[in-house]
Amino acid sequence: MSASAALPLPLLFLDVDGTLLPYGRTSPPADLEEWAAWQHAGNPQLAEVDRAHGPRLLTLPCSPFWATAWMADANEVIAPLLGLPRWPVAELPEAPLEDHGDRLHRKTRALVEAAAGRPFAWVDDEITSLDRAWVARHHPGPALLHRVDPVTGLTTADFAVLGSWLRDPAAR
Ligand SMILES: [Mg+2]
Repeated sequence: MSASAALPLPLLFLDVDGTLLPYGRTSPPADLEEWAAWQHAGNPQLAEVDRAHGPRLLTLPCSPFWATAWMADANEVIAPLLGLPRWPVAELPEAPLEDHGDRLHRKTRALVEAAAGRPFAWVDDEITSLDRAWVARHHPGPALLHRVDPVTGLTTADFAVLGSWLRDPAAR
C-alpha cells in the first residue's frame, strides 16, 4: 500500500457527446430541435458507444461525475448502455447554442468550483488551451484536462492516459 492509498479518490468529470458518444461521420446537432433528438434514447448514434467502456470506467480509481449537457438523462440513457451505476451530475451553466471554441468553455469554471481544490480529471472533446491555462491559474491541486477526438470518442489510448493519471495525480 502506498502512502497515497488513504487519500480521497480524484474526481472524474466525464463528458458524453463526442467523448463517450462519438460523432463518427455525423455532424454535431446544429439547433435546439436537433439537440433534443440527439440527447434522447432514440438517437441511432448510441449504437456507436463502445459498451466495453463501462467495465473500463469501473476500474478507474476515481470518484466519477457526469459533466455533460445530458445532465440527469446521462443516468437514464448512457449509464444503462454501459452497465454503470448512477453517477452524480456536475452542475453546469446552460449550453450556448454556438460555441466557437475561442473562449473559455462553459464547463471550466463550474468544474473547478465543484472540485474545490481536490485533484480532478476532466475528459471532453471541447477542451482547449484556454481551459488548460485557466485551470492552471485557478485550481490549486493537480488537474488533468484530457481532450478526446470527437470523431472516434474515447479510445483505449485515452483510457491508458486517464488510468495512469488517476492512479497518481500528484506525480504530474
Ligand atoms: Mg462533448
